[in-house]
Amino acid sequence: MKALHYSDWKKIGLVDVTEPQAASGEVLVRVAACGICGSELESFRSESPRRTPPLIMGHEFCGHVVEGGSESGFTSGAKVIANAVVGCGTCSDCESGNDYLCTRRRVFGMNMDGAFAEYVRVPERAILHWPSSLSATEASLAEPAGNAVHVFRAINEFDHKRVLVLGAGPIGLFCQQVCQALGGSDVVVTDPQSGRRDVASRLGARLAVNPMETDLVRACQDVWSGNGPDVVIDAVGTAATKQQSLAIASVGGAIVWIGLHSDQVAISSYLITLKELRVVGTYGASADDMKQALDLMVSGDIDASTWVATVDFENSANAFMELVDGTHAATKVVINPGSD
Ligand SMILES: [Zn+2]
Ligand SMILES: [Zn+2]
Repeated sequence: MKALHYSDWKKIGLVDVTEPQAASGEVLVRVAACGICGSELESFRSESPRRTPPLIMGHEFCGHVVEGGSESGFTSGAKVIANAVVGCGTCSDCESGNDYLCTRRRVFGMNMDGAFAEYVRVPERAILHWPSSLSATEASLAEPAGNAVHVFRAINEFDHKRVLVLGAGPIGLFCQQVCQALGGSDVVVTDPQSGRRDVASRLGARLAVNPMETDLVRACQDVWSGNGPDVVIDAVGTAATKQQSLAIASVGGAIVWIGLHSDQVAISSYLITLKELRVVGTYGASADDMKQALDLMVSGDIDASTWVATVDFENSANAFMELVDGTHAATKVVINPGSD
């Protein structure tokens, strides 16, 4: 089969590889669509040990079962979506449906082969139903959209009338939309790229600003009658955005760190204490988060298509490299390896 293979540091290309075989408890899925995730681009760029070549990446996908499926009932022909994170299935976190917290979790395209390929092996535990009204492109984005639902669940108990989202990449745009849809939040979004700000505005952001050129504190106060954000969602995760999230959050406010750009960073820790901030991290999505994200797509409350570009397999390596270099025009690219 063909696969977009990350063969060595800084090397990715379309090659022929052996078709995988489903083991017991797994199904073999013919991939219909697989999103290219920002975390994969960042891993490629920084030669991150989180994704070590040789590897087939790709963890945002949907497809058709072609083999297996005795345990889950998802038999040949079933349209399915997979969670990116697969738990061990036996620990207490997995038993509570929180596979993303499992200490023995595996992630597609990280420590098992992913779906930048014609076929992928999928543990039945990770499978969800692909709603028939959604296109392959939309269904493939249930995972990143589910991450945004997961973020919303983390802030739901706090005030979230005024939400500031740092970064209008795919995760930021999904967080924006989910906060608007589920929380009725008024959302301000920041991004240095004008194309991404345009998308955020079109998707209903109160304001989309360039943080390099705008006094963000002032911009928020202007639209929120002198108030700051109740919640800041950092969908970037650099030293600058982590510090910015602490500095700009209102007293007693909440902050979600989902972006994973930089690990060791210098921050003003006093801000957390003196402003009594609640800083939470979120990672991944549960099956329920993904199902809720799919419901929001089906109802039209979140848009997972008009700002997403698709690319066929032949052009996928080029698209990947353009995304790595920042020269691709689209905010999000989904690979369609097959004919459907
Ligand atoms: Zn991802
Ligand atoms: Zn587990």
